[in-house]
Amino acid sequence: MTQPKQGLLIVISGPSGVGKDTVLRRLFELAPHLKYSVSYTTRAPRPGEVDGHSYTFVTQPEFLRLIEQKEFLEWARVYDEYYGTSRRRVEEVLDRGEDIILKIDVHGATFVRKRKPDGLFIFITPPSTEELLTRLTGRKTESAGALAIRQREALIELGLAKDYEHVVCNRDVDETAREILAMIAAEHARRQAPV
Ligand code: 5GP
Repeated sequence: MTQPKQGLLIVISGPSGVGKDTVLRRLFELAPHLKYSVSYTTRAPRPGEVDGHSYTFVTQPEFLRLIEQKEFLEWARVYDEYYGTSRRRVEEVLDRGEDIILKIDVHGATFVRKRKPDGLFIFITPPSTEELLTRLTGRKTESAGALAIRQREALIELGLAKDYEHVVCNRDVDETAREILAMIAAEHARRQAPV
């Protein structure tokens, strides 16, 4: 019996405030067949976030237990909170031959690259650093201290774009989503091309 074709693992990173969530929302509207890897996190839900949909929200002891149980493909401590990708959820989707998107930070992406070097790694950048800082300030979902940390980390994270095979500048949400779809289509075409 032939093995079904494995799906494509797509990693999307980018600094806080770059608009990853908005781009992803548009991406799933345009391509509803794509699956999303719902991460675990210890941070509190923001208004409108739904448990099991945006994230699976867990306590810190629960998260540490999941680390011990080797539940994570990768995990990282971001802004003093834990975030992790479920290995089981990702493998199930890939084994069904479906594509899955991980929205994770640069450190998590480095781990995933080691374990899944055949993934598609995409970094989203802002049109300018000034715009990124303005967007972060305008979000008003964080305290002043948390905001300062996010701004500092966002600048550091921006410097790591060079580690990604694909970089897309988010000038327009619809255009960015379509560019990412084109990258996914190109990667599928590359894999199917005779060697
Ligand atoms: P936020 O709290 O704004 O939803 O996410 C903060 C940061 O954590 C973002 O850079 C996001 O990409 C990252 N993140 C979300 N889920 C995961 C995950 O499962 N693993 C890692 N390493 N980073 C994550």
